[in-house]
Order: sequence, then C-alpha cells, then structure tokens
Amino acid sequence: MTDRKAQLAGNLAKVEERIAAACVAAGRKREEVTLIVVTKTYPADDVRILSELGVRHVAENRDQDAAPKAEACSDLPLSWHFVGQLQTNKVRSVVGYADVVQSVDRARLVAALSKEAVRQERELGCLIQVALDAEETGRGERGGVGTGGIEELAGLVAGAPGLRLDGLMTVAPLTGPYAGREPAAFERLMDLSTDLRSAHPAANMVSAGMSADLEQAVAAGATHVRVGTAVLGVRPRLG
Ligand SMILES: *Cc1c(COP(=O)(O)O)cnc(C)c1O
Repeated sequence: MTDRKAQLAGNLAKVEERIAAACVAAGRKREEVTLIVVTKTYPADDVRILSELGVRHVAENRDQDAAPKAEACSDLPLSWHFVGQLQTNKVRSVVGYADVVQSVDRARLVAALSKEAVRQERELGCLIQVALDAEETGRGERGGVGTGGIEELAGLVAGAPGLRLDGLMTVAPLTGPYAGREPAAFERLMDLSTDLRSAHPAANMVSAGMSADLEQAVAAGATHVRVGTAVLGVRPRLG
C-alpha cells in the first residue's frame, strides 16, 4: 500500500467508526447513513484511491476542479454529488458528470438544470439547499433558500423534466439564530424534511453533517453525511 493509501484507509476507518458509533447512540441502523467523501481541492489520484477503498459517493463544490477530476475518474463506480453554489453558466458542464446536485436554491437554476438534463438525456437527482442563516424568504450567505422558499422550489423540481426531487441539504450556519447550535439546526432540517415528504414521499434524502458535526447530524436523522477534512486532511486553501 502506498503511504497515501494507508493514510486515507486509516482516516476512512476512523470516520466509519464515528458514523457507526453515532448510529448506535441514535438507535439507527448503519445502513441508514451514507458517507459522501468531499474531495474538493484534492487530486483525481486521491479519488481513485478512495474508490479502491470502497467509497461510492464523492462530492465537489467547484466545477472548474470537478469537471477534469470526474473525467479522469469516469471509469470508476462512483456517484458524483455537486454541493457548491452553482452558476447557470456551469450547468452544462455539471450535468455532464453529476448524479446529484445538492445545492438547488433558485427557480432559474431548476430551469437550467432541467433543460440541460433533458438535452443530455440524463436524470439528475436534486436536493433543495436550505439556508438556516437566512430570513424565511431570503437567501443564505453560502447559497441556499430560506425555509419559506422550499415548497415552491420543490414543486418546480418535481415537475421538471429530467430532474428527480431527492430531498434537502443544509450546512450548519455560522451566523443567525442557529449559529453554533448544530443539533437545533439539524432538528429543524428534519422537521422541514417531514413537511417536504408529506407532499413528496420519495424525497427522503437529508444531507447534513460534515467532519466537525457528523455525530449531531446522524443523531438528528441525516441520511447522508458529507465529510472532507476528516478523510483527506486539512485543505491547503479555502474551498
Ligand atoms: C467542504 C464541504 C463539506 C466538507 O467539509 P469538511 O469540514 O471538510 O468535512 C461538506 N459540505 C459542503 C457543502 C462543503 O462545501
């Protein structure tokens, strides 16, 4: 095993232990939680190693980095999640490799994703990104729609050709009433998911929790955790 492979294997094992322990603590089955490894800023070689180590879901937040990486890894059995703020001029590229876009947060983006998914004959999973740092009708600092905008956006996705409404995503907010209150933020997301599922029963994905707060997310009921640093190491630059 290369040094890097041994290092990633060790980190993955630790994260796996944390998820398993959080599931036990919450009385949940381990299979209820899917690990998505956030590979942003790290090279395609790392993605390849992760795939060899059994990782099946990876996430990226910038198309410029993600597109060549996904291309270099197109032979691997991976699902690609896009989790960053998405400009409509990047939609064509992102739809070319993403299986799920977790950061759907405005009507214009839904229209662009739908048009492109149809053009490329792909079915694209979509999560509505919820901004818990925004006013109900506002938008988040780091993307996302205020809670008052979820229902309308969900309806648009559900009715859009080429798109599949999969659920909700959030990032624990750094500002606003939920700042520093991850458990409360994730509980709120779960309540919003319950509301969403009453209209869209299949939209049962709840993507929450990162390296620092995955336990709280699993405790609240998250179905997907997005872990970067704890697997790959501290990123050399903000990303
Ligand atoms: C970078 C990122 C993560 C992973 O964060 P870590 O703290 O490195 O685990 C999760 N979700 C999103 C949206 C991200 O941009």
